[in-house]
Amino acid sequence: MSLCPECGYHPDYASSISEKATPEEGDLSICINCGALNRFGPGMRLERTEVPDDLTLEQQLKIRLSQDFIRKRGRIPEDVKQ
Ligand SMILES: [Zn+2]
Repeated sequence: MSLCPECGYHPDYASSISEKATPEEGDLSICINCGALNRFGPGMRLERTEVPDDLTLEQQLKIRLSQDFIRKRGRIPEDVKQ
């Protein structure tokens, strides 16, 4: 998996809010370090994106609440990162 384009964090795994366990190209990803919303692009490289308008309001709200939680918590301390 590639680095978060916003903060450079290297995720070593992904978890899903849907039943799908493995991310695919086009899937959205919220960086657990900085809260940036990214999308898996070609070659599974993460690219910055905005909350898509075609999601339901509930889905958009879940993304924004997750981002708020991560941003209020703050970035992961260096000594905790793997
Ligand atoms: Zn990030």
